[in-house]
Amino acid sequence: MARVAVVTGGTRGIGEAISKALKAAGYSVAATYAGNDEAANKFKAETGIPVFKFDVSDYDACAAGIAAIEKEVGPVDILVNNAGITKDRLFHKMELAQWQAVINTNLNSLFNVTRPVINGMRDRGFGRIVVISSINGQKGQAGQTNYSASKAGDIGFVKALAQESASKGITVNAIAPGYIATEMVKAVPQDVLDKHIIPHIAVGRLGEPEEIARAVVFLASDDAGFITGSTLTINGGQYLA
Ligand code: NDP
Repeated sequence: MARVAVVTGGTRGIGEAISKALKAAGYSVAATYAGNDEAANKFKAETGIPVFKFDVSDYDACAAGIAAIEKEVGPVDILVNNAGITKDRLFHKMELAQWQAVINTNLNSLFNVTRPVINGMRDRGFGRIVVISSINGQKGQAGQTNYSASKAGDIGFVKALAQESASKGITVNAIAPGYIATEMVKAVPQDVLDKHIIPHIAVGRLGEPEEIARAVVFLASDDAGFITGSTLTINGGQYLA
């Protein structure tokens, strides 16, 4: 039986590439999303991967969503915590709602989605948890106190849970992407990309979602069983953490 992989935010952007790559590698994949039904339905029609709509910032919705996935697809062996948002603003102008939305979606989601799957992984003696953090959680970014805090928190979560879970055959790792060509980055004005971002990327270009997806497939594999608690930096040499 194929192992079951869940990718949160798995219908668009980096998550879409991860879902497709895991399917191509032989996993039974379930992709989750928040509310963009059009994108999710298109993704489902194109890939045949089942989609599940629930808000990763809502614990009860996640518990119900994971239960639905386990009923339809099977017990979760691989969890990719990928869903994330930005709500950028300089801190002295940031509103509480912007802070809370980003922390709830990017950081509290780790509790909400991982907690319902961790005991099954422990009982079965196998699991792979990959968290998509960010370069801006490693180095900080002006205008992103909320996002940088959430993404640095992701890395702390990974290090602690890795230590708790290693004896049960579960690895827990983070990937910290640099700037990847998705809608999140396309929202950045082109002149800002050209003048202020791409010149700092040693390889001279944005990354592609597939370049993150290939690393997830590796971390999910049996070959990566000795890698846990680590943060894999994939940023074209922009920041050497
Ligand atoms: P996109 O905006 O392209 O896609 C985001 C995905 O997450 C969508 O499927 C979206 O669902 C889902 N999502 C958003 N909020 C929620 C929520 N509350 N509950 C459930 N699902 C949700 O993002 P990217 O692909 O660019 O980013 C993916 C991850 O990679 C994020 O964690 C991001 O922080 C991180 N990252 C991205 C970088 C980049 O350069 N793009 C760089 C570094 C890190 P829906 O379609 O319904 O809205």
